[in-house]
Amino acid sequence: MIVMKFGGSSVESAAAIDRVAAIVKSRLERHPVVVVSAMGKTTNRLLALARQAVEGGRAAALADLAALKQYTLAEGGPVGGAVEAHFRELAELVQGLSVLGELTPRSIDAISAYGERLSSLIVAERFRAAGLDAVQADSRDYVITDGRHTQAAPLYPETYELLSARLAPIARERVVVVGGFIGSTAAGVTTTLGRGGSDFSASIIGAGLDAEEIQIWTDVDGMLTCDPRIAEVGHRVKIISFGEAAELAYFGAKVLHPSTVLPAVEKNIPVLILNSRRPEVEGTRIVAETVACGNAFKAIACKQGIVSVHIRSLRMLMAHGFLRRIFEVFDRYTTPVDMVTTSEVSVSLTIDTVQNLDPILTELREFADVAVEQDQAIVCMVGDNIGTTRGIAGRVFQAMNGINIRMISQGASNLNLSFVIAGRDLKHAVELLHQAFFSDLDPAVFDPKGSAAA
Ligand code: ADP
Ligand code: ASP
Ligand code: MG
Repeated sequence: MIVMKFGGSSVESAAAIDRVAAIVKSRLERHPVVVVSAMGKTTNRLLALARQAVEGGRAAALADLAALKQYTLAEGGPVGGAVEAHFRELAELVQGLSVLGELTPRSIDAISAYGERLSSLIVAERFRAAGLDAVQADSRDYVITDGRHTQAAPLYPETYELLSARLAPIARERVVVVGGFIGSTAAGVTTTLGRGGSDFSASIIGAGLDAEEIQIWTDVDGMLTCDPRIAEVGHRVKIISFGEAAELAYFGAKVLHPSTVLPAVEKNIPVLILNSRRPEVEGTRIVAETVACGNAFKAIACKQGIVSVHIRSLRMLMAHGFLRRIFEVFDRYTTPVDMVTTSEVSVSLTIDTVQNLDPILTELREFADVAVEQDQAIVCMVGDNIGTTRGIAGRVFQAMNGINIRMISQGASNLNLSFVIAGRDLKHAVELLHQAFFSDLDPAVFDPKGSAAA
């Protein structure tokens, strides 16, 4: 059995879904279980109209919902009454939200889950029209999570039991199409796994079904040596380890949700990243073992819109408990800290979730001097040669050619070398680093951009 996950752009239109049907058809002998994201930008649109509804824009929210319905039906093709019924329920939810005037994490999940509930129905229907023996399944019946709405974590024993006892028998006979991203609590309340979470769903489902492979089909040729949204110079990475892929995902390589590798590592199931528009390209293979490589790094990831917080103890001495107090503040506001550097009396750290920044700063200022820098970026150079390559940091900073570096951290994992720069320097920095470290490529690991094989 294999799991094939298709992201939003791979199912954004009738033509895209038909391409997906052809890809699935060509792999039928491997018993594919298909995981789909919401069509195109559906999730963004649902979240935006939910916000509009609670902010007094009920009519506008309903108009946006009507437009979303029109798009869904136009691209989804002839669909049954279930899709209509879903849109009726959505309209009721929008009305309810506008009366309540409040958007809770639980209602955000209820609304955003419709994206994948709709796409799985539609894709299964189009698969049948294309001659596949397809059946839709609801991931809320199989993926059981805790109750942390919008960021739920799977309860693995329960989930694996349901997948192997209930879903596997169906999947052995037919092509199951299931929506990613969503789950439910043991009590049956709808949850979601966080933005971009369909990759994670694919991995959870693959692990629960003991799949031989998990395929993430998307709109690029695989993991590239740099983020194509920043610079179009990247080469395809042919093979990479789980650890390196997780590091890249965590530091901004959106092509893979950061949690995707966890279930796959545990069951040692290879993960592939593939392009649904160019299925003939072999993609990126993510494997358990380390990947020997002539290059110092496998890829560069980056995160924009980062805020740096510089915290200096008021007592001018590293008082006992200073670090604990700092992290307790971030913890209270469930704000993840990405990078940390410390010196004798000060701590600098970065966050990319800023909605609670003001109260966080107020609390920190009770015991420290605090300065904030907005619009920063993290650049993260990833590769497991870092620990063993002499003078690597020096070469990186030399390549940066004078661009000001605000913070530096060499990850404890020895897999990444990260630093913070001003957001406006990001594109230039990535281009310089890419030029310095990815001009001469190990052919066993990289496929040069523009080569015949690509
Ligand atoms: P999907 O909808 O299929 O899940 P995503 O938009 O979530 O697709 O992820 C694919 C996108 O990830 C690509 O279009 C690309 O812009 C972005 N991306 C960021 N960093 C990388 C990278 N290092 N390699 C490939 N893609 C990357
Ligand atoms: N549809 C969800 C999102 O946009 C999940 C996903 O696409 O992976 O975040
Ligand atoms: Mg994605």
